[in-house]
Amino acid sequence: MAHYQHILLAIDFSDESGTVINKALELQLHNSAKLSLIHVIEYSGTMYTGEIPIPEDLDLDQQMADHAGKKLDELIARYQLMGSDRFVEIGTPKREIVRVAEAEGVDLIVIGSHGRHGLQLLLGSTANGVLHQTACDVLAVRVGQS
Ligand code: AMP
Repeated sequence: MAHYQHILLAIDFSDESGTVINKALELQLHNSAKLSLIHVIEYSGTMYTGEIPIPEDLDLDQQMADHAGKKLDELIARYQLMGSDRFVEIGTPKREIVRVAEAEGVDLIVIGSHGRHGLQLLLGSTANGVLHQTACDVLAVRVGQS
């Protein structure tokens, strides 16, 4: 098996996240690799075009990013991932995961086979999209199936 140096773990905070984290941890230990975490916020407050006026000083993107950052910090503490970098991005999950992986010199992306988008497909849409768009290795951890 290849000796991985930098693993990027994609977290969507679904119930299955623990299974995916444990697999990434196993690989990190086995390879003595660096482990980074990423969560992508799929909604951008600046895209809001509804009727309710939003105060100009209310930065929804920043608030959501802060909230996601805190949740990632909780996972880092719970799984003792001290020394891990964490990334909170806004956009399309598969695109942002691939972009950060390239920018950070990641050689393995660990992702759940399925997450919040459910089990309609053999491989969830994010895992499938990442697999097709990145040049580095991808491990899809099978979750949510008997
Ligand atoms: P899904 O495409 O929703 O079935 O999700 C499959 C896997 O993609 C999840 O288990 C996560 O590892 C990853 N993923 C999905 N959405 C996100 C997101 N917003 N941020 C980071 N990772 C995600």
